[in-house]
Amino acid sequence: MSQNIPELYGSLVFNDKVMKNKLPKDVYKALRKTMQNGTHLELDIANSVATAMKEWAVEHGATHFTHWFQPMTGITAEKHDSFISPVGNGEVIMNFSGKELVKGEPDASSFPSGGLRATFEARGYTAWDPSSPAFLKDKTLYIPTAFCSYTGEALDKKTPLLRSMEALSKEATKLLHLMGHEDVHGVTTTVGPEQEYFLIDKALYRARKDLVFCGRTLFGAAAPKGQEMEDHYFGVLKPRVSAYMHDLDEELWKLGVPAKTKHNEVAPSQHELAPVFDTANVAVDHNQLTMEIMKKVADKHGLACLIHEKPFEGINGSGKHNNWSISTDTGVNLLDPGKQPSENIDFLLFLAAVIKAVDDYADMMRVSVASAGNDHRLGANEAPPAIVSIFLGDELTNVLKAVEKGVSFHEPEAIQMETGAHVIPHFMKDNTDRNRTSPFAFTGNKFEFRMPGSALSVAGPNVVLNTAVSESLQQFNEVLEGVPAAERREAAFGLVRETIKAHKRIIFNGNGYTDEWVEEATKRGLYNLKSLPDALPQFIAEKNITLFTKHHIFTKEEIFSRYDILLENYSKAIHVEAKTMIEMMEKDFLPALISYTKDVAAAACQKKALLPSVSTSTESALVEKLTKLSDTIYQMTETLKANTATAESTADVLDTAKYYHTEILEKMNELRTFVDAAEALIPDSYLPYPTYDKLLFSV
Ligand code: ADP
Ligand code: MG
Repeated sequence: MSQNIPELYGSLVFNDKVMKNKLPKDVYKALRKTMQNGTHLELDIANSVATAMKEWAVEHGATHFTHWFQPMTGITAEKHDSFISPVGNGEVIMNFSGKELVKGEPDASSFPSGGLRATFEARGYTAWDPSSPAFLKDKTLYIPTAFCSYTGEALDKKTPLLRSMEALSKEATKLLHLMGHEDVHGVTTTVGPEQEYFLIDKALYRARKDLVFCGRTLFGAAAPKGQEMEDHYFGVLKPRVSAYMHDLDEELWKLGVPAKTKHNEVAPSQHELAPVFDTANVAVDHNQLTMEIMKKVADKHGLACLIHEKPFEGINGSGKHNNWSISTDTGVNLLDPGKQPSENIDFLLFLAAVIKAVDDYADMMRVSVASAGNDHRLGANEAPPAIVSIFLGDELTNVLKAVEKGVSFHEPEAIQMETGAHVIPHFMKDNTDRNRTSPFAFTGNKFEFRMPGSALSVAGPNVVLNTAVSESLQQFNEVLEGVPAAERREAAFGLVRETIKAHKRIIFNGNGYTDEWVEEATKRGLYNLKSLPDALPQFIAEKNITLFTKHHIFTKEEIFSRYDILLENYSKAIHVEAKTMIEMMEKDFLPALISYTKDVAAAACQKKALLPSVSTSTESALVEKLTKLSDTIYQMTETLKANTATAESTADVLDTAKYYHTEILEKMNELRTFVDAAEALIPDSYLPYPTYDKLLFSV
């Protein structure tokens, strides 16, 4: 059966086509203007849009609407209201007003606010974001909104993102005007987030408390086979996985999410989905939606989708590569080097701005990807290191070297690829190879920030990138404004030269996984912020407060609230893990261990009773080993319990997070080594949960 995908695509979205159809011409025009330029929308227009939205939604079977927002929990929030409105005589009509569309009033006191608001000041607002389209899900009209407190502070991830996109647009447009491009009226940040995830059997998932409560396994002996055969990456999709991916694509397409690429990833049971890039704001909304739909579709297929950054020890974790660029409203990708990058001054200016931004605010880039889950990835041997650096590749590096020295650069001729097999069609080789170990890599016409973890909302990293680049551009503008138009091109080359000289320490084209790089990076004075508690103090460093307040991205209060929330979230995540581990030890693992030890001992006794001369050295050795392990596990579980209690009574948020890092998480890792050793000795029939071999090789 063939399907009409273009017809299916976006069928659940209140998109441009629907708007054109449903709205009176003048209303449509006013709304488009608001969407493109952020101009204020009058209430009568909002009323008209609301009526059209409701009609369309009701035609598609909807009964409810909800403001949909992204509080600091990192996931999305919604509160559903029905369209019904009583008209007397016990009858109702379906109604939706402009006021309801534009503003909602959720109780804000139960969302993380980092002390921004006392609990008695509970009022919060959600405000419609017309730049991201409304959509239908579960018979409900979803309206993307921003979320703020009664006093106007942002309590969500979307508001600062929108602010940062505006800041970048302002500074970039100004620079482009200075460089003679008067036709540009604005720029947009474009983002394409590649999403990694694991798929495992649902019944097996349910049988593990650690997966259910923490999203990751807290212990588990390695399976005999891991990823060493390199046979999973791009491997054939198994039928169950393929069926899942097809279903997922369709659900996403209906919602207007342009799911494009799918493949198996490096670790067994690991996969990836990449969409076509979109405006940053829409891409972030779509990615949140993607993560949710991934889980929902998995459930339908008897699977569980794990989005945690490190569900299993010993094999790769999951990231979310944030592909990022800037485009003008005239359709030019400002990070596209073109045929002659060394002469392309616009490109060089924007490239230099990014290099300067990443060097000046590398600490904030690290902060923007910090979470309890992602700490397991960064610096481990499968993911980018915790040190931020930029990969440019040979060609661009040589271009910049030439610019720095003020000599001319000859672009290398494109080389034809020779495969040696003549039936293979000829194609041109890229000028630059790739580097998979770099945290921030130039990939042809965009940068790929590889540090974000799979569960993270990419709003945060893009806020930092946009703001830091805005700051570079503002500094460039200040210089170029003072130069007569005729001399500006020359001055711009000078500016690029100075910027590269000052910031080349951040460029590193080598292998980011080696110890030599860690040493070299220290020499270069780069940050190496290994854990969240190491990184977070940088958030409230004077230079970073100045950056965010100057560009109106965060107020000082908002920064401190986010600092608190991030630290609290970290401590809470590890707290839940510790409690889960303690419970699994006491209720599940130790009883299994004791029971097996008892049976081995009983077997020895029974053997002896039957035949006194028989050897029981195997049983004796095993009982001794198991007993030693169980004593250690018991002792360490007791310590973990005591430490968890101490952690709860620590007052300062940073001290608490540090304590969770060193006295809880590290103790859990130590405990795990003994549990894994014991697990390897116990038959599966005694174990109260499925082991790694089943979890990773059952789908
Ligand atoms: P790669 O093989 O380099 O990872 P792809 O072309 O497959 O490259 O792109 C990976 C992701 O980057 C996709 O999600 C894609 O949409 C996104 N992407 C491509 N161009 C841009 C751009 N200009 N801005 C932001 N993201 C982009
Ligand atoms: Mg990629």
